[in-house]
Amino acid sequence: MKTDILIVGSGCSALYLALNLPEETDVVIITKKDAESSDSFLAQGGMCMWHDPDDFNAYMEDTLRAGHYENDRRSVELMIRSSPEVARDLARYGVEFQKDEQGRPVFTREGAHSSSRILFHADQTGREITSKLLAQVRKRSRVRLLEYTTMLDLLCRDDRCFGAVVQKDGGEPYAIRANATVLATGGIGGLFRHSTNYRHLTGDALAIAMKHGIALEHLDYIQVHPTTLYVKDARERSFLISESLRGEGARLYGKNGEPFADELLPRDVLTEKILEQMEKDGEDHVWEDLRPVGREALRSHFPNIVEHCRKMGYDVFSQCIPVVPAQHYFMGGIKVDHESRTTMGRLYAVGETACNGVHGRNRLASNSLLESLVFAKRAAQDICGLKKDEGEAQRTFPADLSAYRDGGRILQDYRRQVKDAIRRTGAEAADGLCEDAAEQERRREYV
Ligand SMILES: Cc1cc2nc3c(=O)[nH]c(=O)nc-3n(C[C@H](O)[C@H](O)[C@H](O)COP(=O)(O)OP(=O)(O)OC[C@H]3O[C@@H](n4cnc5c(N)ncnc54)[C@H](O)[C@@H]3O)c2cc1C
Repeated sequence: MKTDILIVGSGCSALYLALNLPEETDVVIITKKDAESSDSFLAQGGMCMWHDPDDFNAYMEDTLRAGHYENDRRSVELMIRSSPEVARDLARYGVEFQKDEQGRPVFTREGAHSSSRILFHADQTGREITSKLLAQVRKRSRVRLLEYTTMLDLLCRDDRCFGAVVQKDGGEPYAIRANATVLATGGIGGLFRHSTNYRHLTGDALAIAMKHGIALEHLDYIQVHPTTLYVKDARERSFLISESLRGEGARLYGKNGEPFADELLPRDVLTEKILEQMEKDGEDHVWEDLRPVGREALRSHFPNIVEHCRKMGYDVFSQCIPVVPAQHYFMGGIKVDHESRTTMGRLYAVGETACNGVHGRNRLASNSLLESLVFAKRAAQDICGLKKDEGEAQRTFPADLSAYRDGGRILQDYRRQVKDAIRRTGAEAADGLCEDAAEQERRREYV
């Protein structure tokens, strides 16, 4: 198969990038599961937007402070300054954010934000944004969206990328040759025992990047979300109890009903406090009281969370809910510049799988949808400037596909390689990585 641009992933970064390419460009988007199964659909809280000219420095400072001042300042500045443009684009694509009676946008607040600057759509902001982007992409006649199709490797020569080896579930591997390739494969939550992420997000692109000597950065920068609903026998994805709830007044308590932390601390600091409290209490969770948010606000702003808790046996209007930290977001990833270019020619990375330094060591809430979109657009603009003929000449080289027949085994190896790489960094969060039976055996032997 041949195309102008190959995009791996169907989350918000992938879709927005596709929409920012000229309509006459041939684009192939592949995705491991169905098009809706991406973390972008799960985002609850919202998307930051710089809307008050006087808020620029405070927004910058909040992002830097949350990131322990390890952020790339230029990336942060680009993200903040581009946010009104992105919000306008989204409105054009039909995305609806909460408005007041006069039709003006309403902004909410989350932990570590010094002011209200978050656009939201009830507690399903990600679904609202990504479903509308997907609908627009589906209208484009030159974009082909291939579901249940997994990238197994990149096609590389002379430090340039010319597409990927892919496999449809149950099918034979084949090559998709492209003038430029974009990795938009999301996070790594599927590697952890407890994570808010989809289980199929396992950092495949990171393993493939390592294989080809493409630079990665900060594999130890893994964010744990302080509050997910505690379930005794957790096998599925952890359900997020949005930080916006704490922004709107929800309180945290220990076993005996005592407050133990400022609920609006940055995520990493609050997570530590919760873990300390759990240890002190000898419990697997702490308690969150959503009642201070108020009945009306809970119903109108957080209907999905209220309903999920009800299904799990908790009436948030009359009782506290048990909450526990879980892996949530990956600040590290494939190293990219401000145009989302990786260290390999004609290969871009956007969204959570990329690391442009925006988040530093710890992401500020509601910055990731925005960051994904801002740097996806920048990638699209850069791709438009690539000379086509240069790639055209290269893209006919033959790829030996016989080594890719057993895609399942290849992906399993990739998972192991990424977990090993994370463990080697000594990251605290590595304790939460899940181990398959073979790995447990290997470790026992090693010990
Ligand atoms: C529960 C939850 C709540 C969140 N809330 C917020 C919020 O309120 N605000 C905010 O800013 N951020 C939030 N985030 C983070 C944000 O949703 C993500 O960082 C962002 O959506 C990532 O988008 P993406 O395009 O990079 O990847 P994703 O949306 O995760 O998409 C990754 C895509 O890659 C595909 N893929 C992966 N590997 C392969 C492969 N080998 N071959 C083919 N396809 C592959 C997947 O199938 C998927 O389509 C939240 C995240 C979660 C999990």
